[in-house]
Amino acid sequence: MQDPALQPIAEKVYAGERLTAADGLALLTTRDVWTLGELAHHARTQRYGTAAYYNINRHLNYSNLCVLSCKFCEFHRKPGQDGAYQYSIDEVVEHAKKAETAGATEMHIVGGLHPKLKFDYYTDLLRAVRQATPAIHLKAFTAVELTHLARIHKRDRKGHPGAGTIRGMLEDLIAAGLGSLPGGGAEVFDDRVHNEVFRGKIGGLEWINVHRTAHELGLMSNATMLYGHVETLEDRINHLCLLRDAQDEAIDQGHAGRFQTIIPLPFFPDGSELEHLPGPTGLDNLRMLAVCRLMLDNFDHVKCFWIMQTLPMAQLGLSWGVDDVDGTVVWYDITKVGGAGTHQETTPADLQKLIREAGYTPIERDTLYRRVIRDGADWRIDEAMQTV
Ligand code: SF4
Repeated sequence: MQDPALQPIAEKVYAGERLTAADGLALLTTRDVWTLGELAHHARTQRYGTAAYYNINRHLNYSNLCVLSCKFCEFHRKPGQDGAYQYSIDEVVEHAKKAETAGATEMHIVGGLHPKLKFDYYTDLLRAVRQATPAIHLKAFTAVELTHLARIHKRDRKGHPGAGTIRGMLEDLIAAGLGSLPGGGAEVFDDRVHNEVFRGKIGGLEWINVHRTAHELGLMSNATMLYGHVETLEDRINHLCLLRDAQDEAIDQGHAGRFQTIIPLPFFPDGSELEHLPGPTGLDNLRMLAVCRLMLDNFDHVKCFWIMQTLPMAQLGLSWGVDDVDGTVVWYDITKVGGAGTHQETTPADLQKLIREAGYTPIERDTLYRRVIRDGADWRIDEAMQTV
């Protein structure tokens, strides 16, 4: 070990003890990145051995119209602007059927904060996809979208019990087929950062509150952190500590839902109002993956989202605390690495190969981390072989 400051932290990791915020900061700043990687690898291997998870999924961004204009976002458009689009329910169903044909077990559905759509659009969308492709799990809508939807719910469900509340709105979406929540929109939980870059978006407490309500209602969810812009390293650690506290609460209170996965997302300056910033480096990305594994001891999974990290980085991440490389994706409109187009796809064979090449055992999972067994074009969940 080159950095003696890591010795007491290493002792805690090997004893399975919780790390403090100061420990997290020491791990984020140490020059001894090999010890950091080794500790994260230990924590990951303790839980999963050589197992590494992937899924077969499809992303669908139903519209890029958005009432906000976040500085870091190159996805959103205003009505009438070049490139603005919105899918009809029929078009969404077409996407879902193609996903089913391709063997997907999950649709990941998110979009901008649409200025005009009625609440019925969202329930009709879920219901139509559920009806057309009943086996596909619907992971949909970030906490930011859900807060926007609660306002629409208040207007369109006037007089109904729960109108305009996160709980009432989520209950309606669950009845229509919502299966779980993605982790997007968390950005960095800090007022200064929020006011500088995400003004207009919900703050950290509101984001956590949406997920808390979802957990109370039995929904699983994920969490993200978009790092590498105007936040400090302390902000990053504080973000992780707030997530860890929220997860403790979900567990202590016995909620049927909780966070499954942390997905650290590197910021891409290109095309955004923050283009002058350098963005995080590869080493920064590895550090964040490792620190997420070590700080979030009550999260089961750490995902390296290859779309924003690249496939080679996902491969390397498996030895830096990562146990999940996400899925086949196909279309992703939100961020493009190095100017990549919106068609970003990898195959199950490629994901299996990259996992094997890195020395791990590929296991296909569904959204809820249950093992998927395939027989030709058919698939089923093996309830006896839970991944966690
Ligand atoms: S990040 Fe989301 S909320 Fe902000 S402008 Fe882009 S689509 Fe809209």
